[in-house]
Amino acid sequence: MNKVALVTGAKQGIGRAIALALAQEGFDVAVHCRGEASVEAAKAVVRDCRAYGVDADCFTADVSQFGECAELVRQVMARWGRIDVLVNNAGITKDGLIARMSEEQYDQVIASNQKSVFNMTRQVVPVMMKQRSGRIINISSVVGLYGNAGQLNYAASKAAIIGMTKSAAKELGGRNITVNAVAPGFIETDMTGKLPEKVLQAMVGRIALGRPGKPEEVANLVAFLAGDRAGYITGQVFCVDGGMAI
Ligand code: NAD
Repeated sequence: MNKVALVTGAKQGIGRAIALALAQEGFDVAVHCRGEASVEAAKAVVRDCRAYGVDADCFTADVSQFGECAELVRQVMARWGRIDVLVNNAGITKDGLIARMSEEQYDQVIASNQKSVFNMTRQVVPVMMKQRSGRIINISSVVGLYGNAGQLNYAASKAAIIGMTKSAAKELGGRNITVNAVAPGFIETDMTGKLPEKVLQAMVGRIALGRPGKPEEVANLVAFLAGDRAGYITGQVFCVDGGMAI
């Protein structure tokens, strides 16, 4: 029986690349997406995962909603009866300068990026405790470590994920569950595609390797952390940023 990985926000971008990298490593993959509008894209990811000879299926939930996360985990358990790896990848940006940021802009980012990690972890940990093993990988950001003008809400959510990662690692280590965070820098996806050209140029100028990263370059590290060779690594934050934050 294959191990099972659940990847949130996996219909595109970094989440899609993670789902495929885990399928390539032999995991059955639960490809999560937000709702009906995302299902077609998620089904394409499922097909691509299956091409690696593993099982895969797609599941919908708004991960900012506690009850929907409970239902998501229930459905994945009904499908495979186990969850070995949880990748909390889903996230949004709603950028704006502090003086103009609305309460809604702040709350939505915290709910989708930060509370979602609690919602999912809360549901999956009892499963992993019963299995006596598990891997949780949280996708943070270099912005959570170093901050960024115009992203106070996003930085708050991504910094919180680092605190959550370290707390969960301390609490769950004795249960043979590792918890790590991956902090990407500037990766080419829809999320960064929205940025104005001038901002993009300025960001690339700060990257030692002189180019944006690819989703696969984040996924490679996630696949390593999910695998047997990473069994003694927990509570860590790994930047995948081409030397942006040195
Ligand atoms: P993306 O916008 O392409 O993908 C994010 C996915 O998350 C989308 O499919 C979206 O539908 C899903 N999602 C968001 N909120 C959700 C919710 N409440 N419920 C269900 N699904 C939800 O972005 P990406 O660039 O692939 O980002 C993936 C992760 O990597 C995010 O957490 C992001 O913050 C982080 N990240 C990205 C970069 C970058 O440069 N692209 C850098 C650092 C961190």
